[in-house]
Amino acid sequence: MAKKPKVYKINCAKCETYILTYHKYGAGKGILRLYFSNIHKPIGFSDSLFQYDSINQVPNLQCSNCDEVIGIPTTSKSDKWVFRMKQGYFHRKLKK
Ligand SMILES: [Zn+2]
Repeated sequence: MAKKPKVYKINCAKCETYILTYHKYGAGKGILRLYFSNIHKPIGFSDSLFQYDSINQVPNLQCSNCDEVIGIPTTSKSDKWVFRMKQGYFHRKLKK
C-alpha cells in the first residue's frame, strides 16, 4: 500500500506568517519534529537545509517576520536531520 502524506502548512503562532509546507507520514496528530527531507516549500529554503556538512551548522527554524524561534535543529533516533518543534509557537493547517 502506497503511503500518502498529509500536507501541512506551518505558520508562526505569534504573527501568522507562513513558514513552510510539511509532508507528514504515518499516524499521530502532533507535529513534534520536522524531517528535513519532508519539508517541501519554500523551495529555496528546503534546498538550503542540505548544504550543511553537520547538523550543528544548521540555523534555528525562525519566523521570517518576527524572528520567533519555532524549531531547533537536531538529529532523530534514526540519525535523520530534523527540527524539534517548540509546541505552542506555531500553527499547522491541514491542506485538503
Ligand atoms: Zn512570526
